[in-house]
Amino acid sequence: MTFKPKKEHKKFLFSLFGEQDVLFEREKILIFGTDASKKFAWPSIVVRPSSVSQVKELLKWANKNKIPIIPRARATNVVGACVPVYGGIVVSTLKLNRILDIDDRDYVAEVEPGVVTGDLQRVLKQKSLFYPPDPASAKISTIGGNVSQNAGGLRAVKYGVTKDYVLGLDVCIPGGEILSLGGRSHKDVVGLDLKSLMIGSEGTLGFFTKIILRLLPLPDKSISILVGFNSLERLIEVAAKILKTGLIPVAMEFMDKDVLNCIRQLGKVEIPKSIDAMLLLQFDGNEKEVEGAIYNCEKLFKELDIKYYERGGDKKREEELWEVRRLINPASHKMGEKKIALDICVPRSKVPIIINESKSVGKKFNIPILCFGHLGDGNIHVNIMYSDDMEKTAHKVSYKILQKTIEIGGTISGEHGVGILKLDLIDKQLSNTEINLMRKIKSIFDPNNIMNPGKAY
Ligand SMILES: Cc1cc2nc3c(=O)[nH]c(=O)nc-3n(C[C@H](O)[C@H](O)[C@H](O)COP(=O)(O)OP(=O)(O)OC[C@H]3O[C@@H](n4cnc5c(N)ncnc54)[C@H](O)[C@@H]3O)c2cc1C
Repeated sequence: MTFKPKKEHKKFLFSLFGEQDVLFEREKILIFGTDASKKFAWPSIVVRPSSVSQVKELLKWANKNKIPIIPRARATNVVGACVPVYGGIVVSTLKLNRILDIDDRDYVAEVEPGVVTGDLQRVLKQKSLFYPPDPASAKISTIGGNVSQNAGGLRAVKYGVTKDYVLGLDVCIPGGEILSLGGRSHKDVVGLDLKSLMIGSEGTLGFFTKIILRLLPLPDKSISILVGFNSLERLIEVAAKILKTGLIPVAMEFMDKDVLNCIRQLGKVEIPKSIDAMLLLQFDGNEKEVEGAIYNCEKLFKELDIKYYERGGDKKREEELWEVRRLINPASHKMGEKKIALDICVPRSKVPIIINESKSVGKKFNIPILCFGHLGDGNIHVNIMYSDDMEKTAHKVSYKILQKTIEIGGTISGEHGVGILKLDLIDKQLSNTEINLMRKIKSIFDPNNIMNPGKAY
């Protein structure tokens, strides 16, 4: 049942946050009802804590009064994870945005959840330190949101994803207690790993108040190469050969023929007509490592008679090569006003199967399908493009692609999460026992089901 705030609720919240940080007027809270999924439900109230003690008091009170709490950062998640489906109090993390410590001896950063990922990366760079997870939304999403969704990104082939860099988490659980899980040690195997349970929990177990991240030294250099092929099959074959030589690229992004056609139509970059698939690689390390990797790639391309490749280097040239990748999203709408954007992940050897299946289902139902993404880790973005009158068909196509993904041992989400958008699909991948276990675990942390109810599992 949707929560409806009473006079005494508002009174408590005003006294805790001050009037300026409690929003309840419809025109002010409207935006807090949606996120990048474009789904919507009205929040009851929005609050903007700026201290951990406010979060503690709020979760103590909300638990006692059984009021839903929806943590919300920059709302860039694409699955409706911030949509307040039962109303309740949307808790913005944007005023909890301090970088608390950066330590180049422990190789850690301690941050509040609302720190924007790209801002942290920039500050670290000035100190020759490196936080590798790099979702395409890094400039507009936060560390708290990234941890909560276990965000992936372009550098995952070499460096892994968000969970690989979380050493510690302070989490406020319903009732107001703060759990300090993990810490600044780079290894820790005592007891059950409650910290990992929190990562990817989509705001359903507690509210993160502090995050301790593992850092690396900043690599000296990175260089990208853009390679063109006359077929996607050939691209996949060559990508496998590159990985077999032992070269681990930071990024290994591919684009299929239809994606390239959309980009051509934008008229912003030149792509030769003979190219039907493109691979964007990036290598980093010290000068010798990077030059060695590029040399070995170029040698391989010569042996395989690959004629089209362009090498990056300085900042301007790198930008030019990555522009092709950045144009995918705007260019995709040349194929349809709307899209279902799947982020399936399959075992690497099964990538060709799922791309072929996606294309042939699209063809059968006359719906354009664009395939691109993180080839290096099998995380394929399948965009199903449609117009309003084809919505039902698009969902049918999506369902068929997801079914095939599961059948070949893949997952319906490699990085975006479940939220509300994929909730009705999880029983296709998880058993009833698994889903019930997840719900029981939630009820231990959150017996009154106040944390982001109706999401994820
Ligand atoms: C253009 C674009 C590109 C993207 N590229 C990628 C990509 O490459 N890889 C990828 O993985 N994702 C990507 N995403 C999706 C999205 O950016 C990520 O899911 C991101 O991690 C969300 O961060 P956020 O700060 O916006 O969090 P929000 O969307 O505000 O919140 C996400 C979840 O975190 C919870 N939450 C937020 N703060 C807290 C907290 N303090 N405590 C507990 N729970 C909390 C919320 O309740 C919600 O469930 C992209 C999105 C866009 C729009």
